[in-house]
Amino acid sequence: MYWIFNPKVVGTLTAHTADEQDWVLTTAVLPALEPAGGMPAAQALSLVRAAIGDDSVDVRVQSVRPWSMALRRAEAARVGRVLLLGEAAAGFSAIGGFGMNHGIEDAASLAWRLQILLGSFVRDDLAQALLSSYAEERAASAQAHASRTQQLSDLADQVLRAAGVDPGGFQALSALSRSPWVRLLPRPAAGKLFRAATGTGLKPLGRLADAGQAGAEVRARVRRAIDRQREVFVTLGTDLGHAHATGFLCPEPHPHAKSPHAGTDYWAESSPGALVPHLWSQADGGSLSRATWPGVRR
Ligand SMILES: Cc1cc2nc3c(=O)[nH]c(=O)nc-3n(C[C@H](O)[C@H](O)[C@H](O)COP(=O)(O)OP(=O)(O)OC[C@H]3O[C@@H](n4cnc5c(N)ncnc54)[C@H](O)[C@@H]3O)c2cc1C
Repeated sequence: MYWIFNPKVVGTLTAHTADEQDWVLTTAVLPALEPAGGMPAAQALSLVRAAIGDDSVDVRVQSVRPWSMALRRAEAARVGRVLLLGEAAAGFSAIGGFGMNHGIEDAASLAWRLQILLGSFVRDDLAQALLSSYAEERAASAQAHASRTQQLSDLADQVLRAAGVDPGGFQALSALSRSPWVRLLPRPAAGKLFRAATGTGLKPLGRLADAGQAGAEVRARVRRAIDRQREVFVTLGTDLGHAHATGFLCPEPHPHAKSPHAGTDYWAESSPGALVPHLWSQADGGSLSRATWPGVRR
């Protein structure tokens, strides 16, 4: 993945196939003025070209698709017999990449509860408590992941700041573009106005290409900020190390040891609410990947 910082486009360019033939450029637009879904192919192509910076590269735009980078959460994960999971229950911005992981955790958390309820007779009040604990556990987990996403977004913003760009500037423009008075303006005029404002905001990025001392200094600042981004990309501690403190569990009175870098480093633990530690073992002449829970094989 490449981060793109230049006065014409800011975003990421990510290889989506192992042979690096298919790439996805992710960049921000102002949907109130120019919905991404309706972006002409020529405009998309010029953004891709600006991101690559080499017009000799053969490029074919396959599709332009909008998605919304926002933290969202349903008011409740359970209403009666309706239980929400995945993106329908909680959405995270792409920073940290917690969305699908969280959705899979939702599914696992619901699956074992449903298996208990379907497989054996459970008193109605206990069945209700079991289902309510799903909503309680997932709400706490979504809150923890949303807070972590926000921390990582703030960290990632330091790269733009180092380059002299205000990370909140585009959000302010986006809010303004949705205001009633902007809606009164003719669309082409509003589009031109906001494109000019975006260009002004991104102008400092031009210094990154400066061959002189000023350019060298800004590049060094940006490089230092990028060096501090490890936590944004290494999230194993959050992905595997999140231990539920609420829900259907009996908490232990003493805390288990946590890594001082709990967001990045995963330290296996066996406290209730944590992921069961993993173990490679040799059996039947081959390696088995299994949880340490006796009798459970994966
Ligand atoms: C750009 C981007 C990058 C991401 N990167 C990461 C990452 O690195 N790591 C990570 O963990 N997560 C990431 N995510 C999040 C991840 O993609 C989502 O969390 C995950 O896809 C959610 O899965 P889901 O099945 O809950 O919902 P979805 O994948 O949204 O699936 C819902 C499906 O339901 C269909 N549907 C909707 N309405 C109806 C209807 N009325 N009838 C029938 N079908 C319907 C939709 O068409 C869709 O196919 C990223 C998301 C985006 C947009």
